[in-house]
Amino acid sequence: MVDLSAQYQKIKPAIDEAIAEVIHTTAFINGPAVGHFAQELASYLGAEHVIPCANGTDALQIALMALGLQPGDEVITPSFTYIATTEVIALLGLTPVFVEVDPQTFCIDPSAIEAAISSRTKAIVPVHLYGQAANMNAIMELAEKHQLFVIEDNAQAIGSDYHLSNGRVQKTGTIGHIGCTSFFPSKNLGCYGDGGALYTQDADLAKKIKMIANHGQEKKYVHDVVGCNSRLDTIQAAVLRIKLRQLDNYIDARRDVAEAYDAAFAQLPGVEIPFRAADSKHVFHQYTLKLKGHNRDALQAHLQEAGIPSMIYYPIPAHRQKMFAHFDVQGLELPLTEALCKEVISLPIHTEMDEQQLNYIIEHFISFFK
Ligand SMILES: *Cc1c(COP(=O)(O)O)cnc(C)c1O
Repeated sequence: MVDLSAQYQKIKPAIDEAIAEVIHTTAFINGPAVGHFAQELASYLGAEHVIPCANGTDALQIALMALGLQPGDEVITPSFTYIATTEVIALLGLTPVFVEVDPQTFCIDPSAIEAAISSRTKAIVPVHLYGQAANMNAIMELAEKHQLFVIEDNAQAIGSDYHLSNGRVQKTGTIGHIGCTSFFPSKNLGCYGDGGALYTQDADLAKKIKMIANHGQEKKYVHDVVGCNSRLDTIQAAVLRIKLRQLDNYIDARRDVAEAYDAAFAQLPGVEIPFRAADSKHVFHQYTLKLKGHNRDALQAHLQEAGIPSMIYYPIPAHRQKMFAHFDVQGLELPLTEALCKEVISLPIHTEMDEQQLNYIIEHFISFFK
């Protein structure tokens, strides 16, 4: 699905030197690269505060902890997402309220959010799925009207631009109260292990987030709140500083692959190419098609025979996972989400795809429909 080795070859001297430098100085924890990377990412995103942490799941958990929510408080989230988004809500004793997504953008549907708001609702966690933003204009309007927090799960959309209704353009993740990112190796900005970050424009929230990620302490050995230990390794920060400089090129390369796929697949009957929302720049973390009336298993087998991987993101909606069976989900019907789980298929997309690979994939994909 990705080619991290070919990507590494292109930046090898810089990466090797940066890693060697960390080892040479043995500043493995909170070395200078961590702070430099946080500053550089803040400036790239136009965020006031960036707080690095250990992974994207931790980022989401720490974000919820920073809001001071109480057990039983409700958090509205899409059911069509990676499990981490919803898992941390339950982990903290909060109640996940699963709602529908927009079948075109695959992102949380604002009208479904509005219908799910109750007196216990405290926060909304939209996910910018596959690299395209949720409808943040509508979501922020709802949040303001009902006094709710918004945590953006930006793990798949880092670098995407969003057009606000006031005419401004902002990076995804900087629009809500807190944005969360993962630097998992295959993400659009990936490191060579685990990594994550939170960003916010709010100085008080930034202070709380920093404390929580560091055992609830501001001063060493003085612990004011219950926190956790969630740090970005210096080696990962050093890698990320180099890769951040490439992020816009990486996004362009992914968009080029997506355009070639679009052109090749647009006319196939029963194949729906990704929708491009007018308010959001798609950064194509995934290239995901919808199949109507085709046998997806057979298509995957057909591709596999030619050595072409494909993936289903995601085969089971969150509200149908056993881990949430103790919540009030038995009677919950989310037909659009359930349908998507049966219809979507994601094809390889990455920064190092050459024309020969691309044509090979396109040719074999199309041959299934002949
Ligand atoms: C990858 C991902 C996460 C979790 O990130 P990790 O770094 O793997 O913990 C959370 N949400 C979404 C939507 C993701 O794609």
